[in-house]
Formats: sequence, C-alpha cells, structure tokens
Amino acid sequence: MNLILMGLPGAGKGTQAEKIVEKYHIPHISTGDMFRAAIKNGTELGMKAKSFMDEGALVPDEVTVGIVRERLSEDDCKEGFLLDGFPRTPAQASALEEMLDDLGRRLDHVLYIKVPKDDLFKRLTGRWICPDCGAAYHEIYNPPKTEGKCDKDGSDLIQREDDKPETVDKRLEVNLEQAKPLVDFYEEKGYLRNVDGQQDIDQVFADVDSILQGDRT
Ligand SMILES: [Zn+2]
Repeated sequence: MNLILMGLPGAGKGTQAEKIVEKYHIPHISTGDMFRAAIKNGTELGMKAKSFMDEGALVPDEVTVGIVRERLSEDDCKEGFLLDGFPRTPAQASALEEMLDDLGRRLDHVLYIKVPKDDLFKRLTGRWICPDCGAAYHEIYNPPKTEGKCDKDGSDLIQREDDKPETVDKRLEVNLEQAKPLVDFYEEKGYLRNVDGQQDIDQVFADVDSILQGDRT
C-alpha cells in the first residue's frame, strides 16, 4: 500500500501515522528522518543535501527526489510506504509519479486530514509547558488544575515561541498556501481522500482504515 499523508500542523498527522504503521506494517517515511539517515550514512546524495543545509539553502528537488528514491528502494518498502512531508509541491509530486512508474509501482491514496484553520489555531495556541519538569498542558484539551501553574511542581507555565498566536497564525497561513496546489494536483489525479480530522482520534482512524480497507476488497 503506497500512501501519502497530508495535513496541516495540529491536524493529528503524527498520531494517525502511528496507527497506520501499526496496523498495516508499512514504514512511516518522514522527510526529516529520511534526510537525517542519508546524512548519517554518508550517502552521496546525503552529503549533497548537507552542503545545502549547512549554507542555510533549500535542498534542490533533484537531490530530495533522489533521496526519496533511494529510501523507497529499500527492502522495508516492498509492501508499501507512508510518505509524510514529501511531496511538497506539484513538481515534486510529478517527480514522485515518474519515480514510482520506474519502480513499477503506483500510488494508492493521498490521505488528507482536514481540520478547519480556526480549529487548528485553537489546538496549536493552547499549548503551555512547564519550564522545570517539561510537563505539557493544553488550555482546552488538557488544562492544568490551576490556571498557568504546573500540576506537579506549581511552576509558572510558559508558552514556546512556536505556540504563540502570531507565530501559529503565520505558520498556518504559509502551510495552507503551500498545501493548496498539491491538494489540487492530487484531487485532479483522483488520489485525494479527505478525512474529517475534527472527530476524535479513534474515529479519524476508523475513517482512514475504511479507506484503506476499501482497497483490499
Ligand atoms: Zn512542572
């Protein structure tokens, strides 16, 4: 089963990825992990990627696509894969399509976990952490017993820069803008499967599962 998982930050992609991997025994391939492994193993492409990253430059598509190709050719991907964070653009999506063609495979589904932006904003800005013990809280989903204080040690909770409203708003806007052309691309190709990410975690997975099971009948 060859899958792509898409979703904006806060949509619960990580949790669903874990559940898919557990049930379908396919590797979860995130861009970050893939780059780290290629660099750690000192592959030619890994070293190329590193030289761009060291300069703070974007890694060009040909390098990224090459790294994906090497990763998808590994043994553990024989029965399928769950790609996460790649492709990011229609150009990369076309490159992936060619690559899969070459490898004699095809994409099955692009799962898009959809949550309205307002809801993502609420999820992402409500995070608070304890600077002393690292405990994490959420204003709505997991509030501390006393507002602004850690349950364990009473320390004042803080909000990471990433979780502040201005930062979150900007990040969501950028991500939405980036995702749109890719979503349109896969919609046109007939691969896109929208999943309602506003439901609770188990129901979201039940929906994902029924899409994936549909394949087997
Ligand atoms: Zn604490």
